[in-house]
This record gives sequence, structure tokens and C-alpha cells, in this order.
Amino acid sequence: MISYQIVEHGKPLQKLYQQTPKPAGTEVLVRVTRAGVCHSDLHIWDGYFDLGGGKRFYVKERGCVPPFTLGHEPFGVVEALGSKVKGVKVGQKRLVYPWIGCGRCAVCRAGQDNYCVSGSRFLGVNRAGAYATHVLVPDPKYLVDTSGIDDAFASTLACSAVTAYSAAAKLPALGPKDRVAVLGCGGLGLIGISVLRAKGVKHIVGCDIDPAKLAAAAKGGAREVLDTRSPEAAQALAGIAAALDFVGSPATAALGIGALRKGGRYVICGLYGGELIHPLPPIAQRAIGIVGSYVGSLQELKQVVALAKKRKLRPAPVETRPADEANQALEDLKAGRIVGRVVLDFEALAA
Ligand SMILES: [Zn+2]
Ligand SMILES: [Zn+2]
Repeated sequence: MISYQIVEHGKPLQKLYQQTPKPAGTEVLVRVTRAGVCHSDLHIWDGYFDLGGGKRFYVKERGCVPPFTLGHEPFGVVEALGSKVKGVKVGQKRLVYPWIGCGRCAVCRAGQDNYCVSGSRFLGVNRAGAYATHVLVPDPKYLVDTSGIDDAFASTLACSAVTAYSAAAKLPALGPKDRVAVLGCGGLGLIGISVLRAKGVKHIVGCDIDPAKLAAAAKGGAREVLDTRSPEAAQALAGIAAALDFVGSPATAALGIGALRKGGRYVICGLYGGELIHPLPPIAQRAIGIVGSYVGSLQELKQVVALAKKRKLRPAPVETRPADEANQALEDLKAGRIVGRVVLDFEALAA
């Protein structure tokens, strides 16, 4: 098999040839055809998350130690099955749910693998991921049938769409005139707008600093768009019922939290980095909520896939590039040059 691996954090990924693994027990070997490139790949590539105040969280502390294969948006074809696998056949196309927990603890048994702390096996985070011709999946229950959905778009559902969907599920009850801000209109924000539309939210304010992303947000269904660098941004946003922060920087947090109406809610899922410093009394006096959201559950992914099958999710622009351009794709994403998502095509590389 071929994989593109981090050999040294921050340095270009290297193309490596290795023995293709053989699935055992309940494992399934998937031949990857599409792998989405995600913003959080950039942090793993760098080797750390910025916690603000000069502090960092190093990804090696959660088991991501080079050489390491990035990629948590695998889509492909079932190639081989362990002896105990049931319910899936060789040759079937499947989307892989990557937020795999230990499978044994109480949260995993309750279907919340993404909250597992007793041995998570997140693909591309602390297990070999999707920037490869093959990926090993611990159990067929993590494979989702996406027939009828474009393969490249399907690959992005397991991260960006399910993240947006799970974040949107944490919004407060909305009245018909309530405005909801989407902070950051990159790949995640655009699918977030689509998820909000599918949930019946009418008044979405797309917020970004890049005119191209704001244009994409307007096209994707935001009723208003706002350049957050404008001096009137805070004023323009004041009174929103909720904000979904897909950036997660001190600036977007200050803007989103500051603009909430009483009883409003700020949901953060962006991992840009930094720290939140906010006066405490107004959090109580304004009865606002500050909620974190991280990816989503397998059940939520199935709901997202059902929405996409009914054409209720509008795909953000998806650009498919050959797998050999993985490094360029990461560089372009880092430089903010990508509108929507890039998905790597591994089909031509299959070895
Ligand atoms: Zn992601
Ligand atoms: Zn668990």
C-alpha cells in the first residue's frame, strides 16, 4: 500500500510504500478512493494545537507520533474482511465513520464513540488515516452506505458535515425571526449553512474575512453576509440568537459571544487556537450559553447521510485532486486559498 505520512511535523508528507495490512477478527480493510483534506489536518501536521498564552497541546500526547498517516475522511471500497465480519461484502462502496472509540466503555456502548476517553481509535488522529490507498477499520458498524451521493462529497460528510450537524443540534429553540451567525465560511461553515437551511433556519448571517468565502456563503443560502473586519461588525451582529463558530479564534469568540441576545448560545467547534477571556457576571446576567462541540456520533452521521440522500444538503464546492498533490492541498488550505473542500483521489494510486 501507499501512504502519505508525516515523518516530521511541519515538513512535507512523504510517500511511503508498506505491506498492506490483513484484517483480523471484526476488522475490515477498505481500499481508499477518496480522502477529504480538513483544517484539523493542519494542526496535526504542525504537531500541536495553540492553547493561547504561549501554551500548546502536542498531538503526540494523544498518540499521534510520526511516522503517521493523516486523514479522517476516508471513502472507499471494501477490499478484505476479518473472519468475524458480518453485514458487509467485498466490493461494496462505503463511507468510513472515523471517530472510533474503544468500543467497550459506557459512552461507546451508548453510541457516543466520539466522547470516548478510554482508548479512542480516531482514524487520522491517533490511528493510521485516509491519506493512503488502504485503511483498516476495526468493525463494519463504522461503515455507512452512501449510495446515490457523489463519492467525493460523501467523504466530507464524516467530518465537516457531521461536525456542523452536531453543532447545529446544540442551538437553542429558535423563533421565526431569530438570526444565527455562522463564523467562518470555509468548508465547514458552508456545509454548516446548508445544515441550518435543512433544519429550517431562515435568517443565517455568514461571517468571514475573505470576500470569496462570503460570496460562497451567500450562494449557499446565507441571507446576510458580514466582513468581520469591518468596524461595524459587532453592531451589525448584535442581537443574534446563536453563533456557530467554525473558526474558534479569540476574535471570532469575542464577536460571537458579544453579539448574543439574552438567552442566546455560542457553539464553538473551530480549533484555530487561543484562549477565551470574558467577564463572568454577564454570562449569568444575559443567561447565555457557551458550548463546545466536537465532530459527531455515528448516529448523527447516519442522519446527515439520510439528509444528503434526500438532496437536503447542498454540497459545498468540492475540488478533487490527485493524491500526489496532498502536500500542495495542505499548503493551499493553510494559506486560505481553498473555497469549500479539497478531496484527494487515491483511485489511480491503488497498489
Ligand atoms: Zn476534519
Ligand atoms: Zn470507549
